[in-house]
Amino acid sequence: MENLSFNLNDLGSSDLESFILVQQAYKQNAFKESIMEIGFNTNSGYVYIALENGICISSCFGQDVEYITNDYESGEENFYNDYFDALESLNEVNEFGDTFVVSCNKCGNDVTTVNENGNCKKCK
Ligand SMILES: [Zn+2]
Repeated sequence: MENLSFNLNDLGSSDLESFILVQQAYKQNAFKESIMEIGFNTNSGYVYIALENGICISSCFGQDVEYITNDYESGEENFYNDYFDALESLNEVNEFGDTFVVSCNKCGNDVTTVNENGNCKKCK
């Protein structure tokens, strides 16, 4: 287990709210995903949990959580309001340009992403 730390004293009250929001979002959507880094960007005001699957759960100034992914080709950051949308965007094309297709356990449709129960986004 890596040592994950940043100075909580740097957080203002809205930053602390962001810190709570990203933890809630992690628990609700990404619980058990490996965490690469938990941090606070003092320049942008973003509090974030960076996951090893490539999604960064972030919030600034107590605002709604955003899920950020990096586009391998353009190098741009993509912002999503929904964790599953971010996950799907990551899995549509991987770093080798391949498309992942799996079958949903419930409806049997071919989808790019299933959750931990093996269900697609619609079946959850
Ligand atoms: Zn399904």
